Amino acid sequence: MTNYHTHTYRCRHATGEVQDYVEEARKAGLGELGFSDHVPQPDGRWADCRMDIGELSGYVAAVERAREAEARRPGGGISIRLGLECEWSPELESYYREELLGRHGIEYLVGGIHNYVLDGRWRDSFCIESPRGLAAYARQVEGAMASGLFAFLAHPDVFCNGYLPWDAEAKACAHDVLAACASVGMPIEVNGNGLRKPMVRAPEGRRPPYPHREFWDLAKDYGLKALACSDAHRPIDVGRGLLEGTELAASRGLEVLGSLPLPIRA
Ligand SMILES: [Zn+2]
Ligand SMILES: [Zn+2]
Repeated sequence: MTNYHTHTYRCRHATGEVQDYVEEARKAGLGELGFSDHVPQPDGRWADCRMDIGELSGYVAAVERAREAEARRPGGGISIRLGLECEWSPELESYYREELLGRHGIEYLVGGIHNYVLDGRWRDSFCIESPRGLAAYARQVEGAMASGLFAFLAHPDVFCNGYLPWDAEAKACAHDVLAACASVGMPIEVNGNGLRKPMVRAPEGRRPPYPHREFWDLAKDYGLKALACSDAHRPIDVGRGLLEGTELAASRGLEVLGSLPLPIRA
């Protein structure tokens, strides 16, 4: 088993250091563990939920130390990968490509669209309540996918956290997101963190905020690859949701990836 979506205490809403996650991953039987903490922004935007830019080198060093320690273990230990989870905006592309993938040697970027632009302002993807918000979220995903920067799209159905009905607008958003991923062959993630969150009360009944089963029903028509990740914000969660996520995607006929070809070439 593998997990490519892991945070650390640096993002200010997770606990635990790299090594704590590695130890829990060992107990969970993972063969490969990728770290993907929330990307720091050079201009300090969205500062409440990510490391400062000055903490990046310490993050990279902690992951590299873990990688070396694992390689020294008898039998080779867990394969450790170095990534970051990233918002997308056109003006961030050179920073991601040249600084992160280039200078810092980051092996992969996860597209995690927690923020999108509507009417010239950044908004929270967890709190979408209007069809206009849905459409703007889909446009943000389309831009991110077209950038070619990402290894996979995290929680593609995160819009279902705030937008509760599964109506024509929600379906249209789902189709736009799935088509954007299909156009570039982008794998989509079944997100284990959503499965651990409190259920929401939708008109159709109680359900996890995401992944949304109806979204995954539509996904099967797009020929997409999927992967299950825990999106761990606590060491104890590092292996959680992987089997459920794999089952959800496989039951919809999606090919489930056991590992990612890394490093990505953006
Ligand atoms: Zn987070
Ligand atoms: Zn995440």
